[in-house]
Amino acid sequence: MQNKIEHLGIAVKSLENSQKVFQDILGVDAYKKESVESEFVNTLFFKIGESKIELLEPTSEQSTIHKFIEKKGEGIHHIAFDVTDIYAEMQRLQDLGYTLLNKEPKKGADNKLICFIHPKSSNGVLIELCQEIK
Ligand code: ZN
Repeated sequence: MQNKIEHLGIAVKSLENSQKVFQDILGVDAYKKESVESEFVNTLFFKIGESKIELLEPTSEQSTIHKFIEKKGEGIHHIAFDVTDIYAEMQRLQDLGYTLLNKEPKKGADNKLICFIHPKSSNGVLIELCQEIK
């Protein structure tokens, strides 16, 4: 079961250029900037109420965010759901026939264990499961 939408991930070419846009729209400053070197991205987080927005900027052409922007342009990249037990949730969805992009949870930004569901098995929407690391 998913607890709530944890964040929306938005692919951007440049955090520097996009930061102001989201600050203007949301009316708050970003609260965290973090690089995830294993994924070749820099991230910037905004929070309004319980909802978060994660901006993702590629740091290399190897980055999946770079490939996404090349193909589709900037925009919404994924929806992340908060889960209590990511291992159980991965097993449950795998048993239902969904394709997971990683076999084991990975360490993501914002102190989370994460796993992605292949968009081919979820109506074209890239879904991230994430569990807070306690
Ligand atoms: Zn995310």
